[in-house]
Amino acid sequence: MKNVTRRDFAATLGKGAAAVTILGASPLLGAPISAQNKKSLGVALVGLGSYSTHQLAPALEETQFCHLAGIVTGTKEKEAVWKRSYGLPDSSVYNYENFDDIANNDSVDIVYVVLPNSMHADFSIRAARAGKHVIVEKPMAMNVAECNAIMEACAASDVRLSVGYRMQSDPYTQQVKRFVRDKTYGEVQFINSDAAYISRGNPDQWRLNRALSGGGALMNMGVYSIQSSIYGAGENPISVSAQEFSTRPDYFKDTDETITAQFEFENGAVAHMMTSHNISGNRMKVHGSKGWFVLEPAHSYGPIGGHTSDGTVLKYPHKSQMALQMDDFAQHILAGAPNMAPGEMGKRDMIIVEAIYRSIREGGKRQQLDLAEMGLVRV
Ligand code: NAD
Repeated sequence: MKNVTRRDFAATLGKGAAAVTILGASPLLGAPISAQNKKSLGVALVGLGSYSTHQLAPALEETQFCHLAGIVTGTKEKEAVWKRSYGLPDSSVYNYENFDDIANNDSVDIVYVVLPNSMHADFSIRAARAGKHVIVEKPMAMNVAECNAIMEACAASDVRLSVGYRMQSDPYTQQVKRFVRDKTYGEVQFINSDAAYISRGNPDQWRLNRALSGGGALMNMGVYSIQSSIYGAGENPISVSAQEFSTRPDYFKDTDETITAQFEFENGAVAHMMTSHNISGNRMKVHGSKGWFVLEPAHSYGPIGGHTSDGTVLKYPHKSQMALQMDDFAQHILAGAPNMAPGEMGKRDMIIVEAIYRSIREGGKRQQLDLAEMGLVRV
């Protein structure tokens, strides 16, 4: 068994970074904001729910180039707990009403929107207008029109924008991209990707309420399957056909339960994805003309696992994906490093989400995807 180590990864990083498909590079490369002369950027978390509490705030204690500098919450009781836990001053605590005052807080450089999906566009746009760089959680917004509005607001205020696609900063994902780019296992022929879990919680939760979530499994875990189908193929898809299955309509009254979809790619590859709130799945496998490689688990917080048809075991030291992701974005802002998950990428995925829902409405009919409309995005 041959181990692919972090050193192998580091050795090929330069080559990989140069060869990554970045079309239309200029908006992805940040002008360094060295004028501010900061070495670490302040991040304000908007929405102190599960992901902020258990993933992002702890990750911000591991980051090198950014730190927690503010919170925005609608729950008074959380203020004291967070101030005490993270040593935050009163001046860095906001609620949803006075949020726009964050414009006057120089200790906050990045606003990270971690709210239900229906609130992403509003708070991202307000953050941009406040002159702050923006990270918005996945899915980027409720629809393509909202993605456009967020991107326009960020461009108008000349701030950087990134989507919370933590897998883009994960070393296993980056190894997959190198295998695909270098044709290590030949031409990619087929990708199989699952991102799914069984939801048994409160039926009134926002994820099961279309007005707040925009959809069910597809808007939640499905975007990971879309992403890994794309980096598994090495390019954007040219068509998608999709199917929806419902076995617990009593529980999933308002949102999709299980969706499968098939993508075609210009390079001849085909992908099949599955996402669900009623089945577990967490795997991506890429079949090439000379062999295969698989990540399992593929989309969770890690450690990710992987192996290949020639017995190679993929092994990288575990580090918080969210810490890597936020440091990558800080380096984009501070040093002009590539934006690993620009707004264009979130918008592309929303174009695909809309096409999947359209295909389902039309009985599984194949939807052509316009590569030009999807924009010039890295995969
Ligand atoms: P959560 O339900 O745990 O937290 C949501 C937060 O929003 C809470 O603090 C809640 O008080 C606040 N909120 C404000 N208005 C609300 C309303 N009308 N209804 C419900 N909550 C309201 O959710 P979460 O798991 O933290 O998810 C938040 C965002 O983060 C979502 O967009 C989700 O997709 C994303 N997320 C991403 C990942 C990832 O791996 N990148 C993982 C989990 C969640």
